[in-house]
Amino acid sequence: MAHIVILGAGTGGMPAAYELRSTLDRSHRITVVNAVDYFQFVPSNPWVGVGWREREAITFPIRPHLEKKGIDFIAQPVVKIDADGNALDLQDGTRLAYDYLVITTGPKLAFDEVPGAGPAGHTHSICTVDHAEKAYADYQRFLADPGPAIIGAMPGASCFGPAYEFSFVFNTDLRRRKLRHKVPLTFVTSEPYIGHLGLGGVGDSKSMLESELRNNDIKWITNAKVTRVEDGKMFVTELDDHGSVKKEHELPFKYSMMLPAFRGVDAVAAVEGLCNPRGFVLVDEHQRSKKYRNIFSAGVCIAIPPVEATPVPTGAPKTGYMIESMIGAIVHNIAADIAGQPATAKGSWNAICLADMGDTGVAFVALPQIPPRNVNWMKKGKWVHLAKVAFEKYFIYKMKTGSSEPVYEKYVLKSLGVERLDR
Ligand code: FAD
Repeated sequence: MAHIVILGAGTGGMPAAYELRSTLDRSHRITVVNAVDYFQFVPSNPWVGVGWREREAITFPIRPHLEKKGIDFIAQPVVKIDADGNALDLQDGTRLAYDYLVITTGPKLAFDEVPGAGPAGHTHSICTVDHAEKAYADYQRFLADPGPAIIGAMPGASCFGPAYEFSFVFNTDLRRRKLRHKVPLTFVTSEPYIGHLGLGGVGDSKSMLESELRNNDIKWITNAKVTRVEDGKMFVTELDDHGSVKKEHELPFKYSMMLPAFRGVDAVAAVEGLCNPRGFVLVDEHQRSKKYRNIFSAGVCIAIPPVEATPVPTGAPKTGYMIESMIGAIVHNIAADIAGQPATAKGSWNAICLADMGDTGVAFVALPQIPPRNVNWMKKGKWVHLAKVAFEKYFIYKMKTGSSEPVYEKYVLKSLGVERLDR
């Protein structure tokens, strides 16, 4: 009998638990450990930030759903991974032994890299439901006394989609309230150009997103290195394509949401030989730690090299389909390893994304992630907004019912007319 522990019950960890349960014989034990006792559907957090979703609609308690499927659940942060001893130390001092460990801990939000950034400083975040609720509380104050706003992504960021999403959603919400004319809005991003997305662009993303920003009266600054934030003022060094200083900006604002750079979470980053210097897990093509062969990892917490060097550092995004595909490979590989077979399954590291823009949206497909690509397109339409709303409901439903069916494979690819992304 093997004990498989999944560390982190987010977009990657929950499906991993269900898929492992449906694949492995019942004699094997599966335990999920998560820092909090609820699941949150992260892609809906931008909507929480403007009050279009309430917390209750996008979160649910994890325990009953996992237990119903015969999966144990522990709601506690892991403070240490003893990778040589095959055990986790939990916050309450208990120790949990494992035979296989699946790390799906997502990001640590690196607000500390820019003085004054983050919800404890002067910019908001929509990365977690707690942050998005705080952003909404401040947004309501802002509506009573509007002024300049800044939305964007900090140096080293990799997750640009939600920054674009939030700026367009914010723009749409202000228009509906007939307040947009009182809010000069600037998109400030570490990307070298609009639509780079940490991917070197996808299809026509540069001209499409520039056009959308222009059509919505959103100004932008690219190659932007935010150096510090004070109450009501953001300090930005704009670089040119060679990395030299082009202009120094002091931007006033009354409201700001800036996506931070990500690092690996502390307990994972601290394991000797497991991670790269930013704390992301180093895995081989089978999602397996190069050093600890009974540790597998997927999602935002793994190390993926940037698509290309950029004047202000940027990273490559890790999105839902890619995460699902990594999980599929892990489940296959753990089952194979238990059976004494070689672990040969590979995840496909492709980016597909549905980005909401309020009443419309853009979908993009980048296959493979690094150009030149076999599939490379971005399309805009109201159908993307509708598909994203439907997908939210579908994903949450699947996580509540414990379906082990690959959600992106079954739903998103079909809705985009892309059948086989790994070819
Ligand atoms: P997460 O979903 O963040 O899960 C990590 C889990 O690990 C959390 O539950 C956390 O509590 C737990 N954890 C962390 N540390 C510990 C610890 N020490 N002990 C115990 N538990 C721990 N991708 C798309 O494809 N489409 C989108 O529309 C999209 N929208 C996004 C919107 C936002 C705002 C963000 C931030 C990202 C978005 N992404 C999107 C990117 C990506 O799909 C998500 O970030 C996704 O949630 C990542 O999944 P994950 O499993 O790697 O991490």
